[in-house]
Amino acid sequence: MYKIMLVDDAGFMRMMIKNYLTKAGYTDFVEGEDGQRAVELYQQEKPDLVIMDITMPNMNGIDALREIKKADANAKVIMCSAMGQESMVMDAITLGAIDFIVKPFKQDRIVQTVNKVLPL
Ligand SMILES: [Mg+2]
Repeated sequence: MYKIMLVDDAGFMRMMIKNYLTKAGYTDFVEGEDGQRAVELYQQEKPDLVIMDITMPNMNGIDALREIKKADANAKVIMCSAMGQESMVMDAITLGAIDFIVKPFKQDRIVQTVNKVLPL
């Protein structure tokens, strides 16, 4: 089964995404609360997909994405951004993020985006 890593400093956001994806049939999750933890956890857990917030303490999502891709060029990362973060989204795409979703997002949007990468 696919392992999905959820990285967001807001616990409710991780819980919401996990809830949506659980309903869609995904079962294996790892969670991190900032970019620094994301980089460590990626190495330990080797998830099939990372869904990561941009704005986080300690290390933001852009820097964490850069580190993760440096360690594993094939890492699959979907970024979550808020409205008004278009330039960061462009940075993320340049760094190799495979897709992005803009908050607030609906269940369908996140499930469809994940399904494209990890078909069930
Ligand atoms: Mg945040």
